[in-house]
Amino acid sequence: MSTEPDCLFCSIAAGSIPADVVSADDTFVAFRDIDPQAPVHILVIPRQHFPNAAALANADLTLTGRLLAAAAQVAEAAGLTGYRIVLNTGADGGQTVDHVHAHVLGGRQMSWPPG
Ligand code: AMP
Ligand code: ZN
Repeated sequence: MSTEPDCLFCSIAAGSIPADVVSADDTFVAFRDIDPQAPVHILVIPRQHFPNAAALANADLTLTGRLLAAAAQVAEAAGLTGYRIVLNTGADGGQTVDHVHAHVLGGRQMSWPPG
């Protein structure tokens, strides 16, 4: 499994940078976003480093599907019945951390379009 020494989210997955972890297993880590945009705002990451969702999907469709399942499980565990899963991809897509992560947002009515 490949990780990147200078990657913030690889460091959080490794435990070398602290985070408010809500769940973790051998494959994924879920932790609270440091700048929450909703009452519940949790990031779900694979431990393995992929720069974005497209790279993950091109490399491993099974892990891509499992990320979606993990995000849904995190939402359910947080008590959300409706929520939004977001995968910002590339700088123009709003991505600021280049380790794929699914945002799980909920706890308020989510607006559309997202802006
Ligand atoms: P994105 O803009 O889609 O790449 O999302 C990156 C997210 O990571 C943002 O919502 C940030 O608030 C969040 N973030 C950045 N640093 C940390 C950190 N140390 N712990 C938790 N969340 C973070
Ligand atoms: Zn990484």
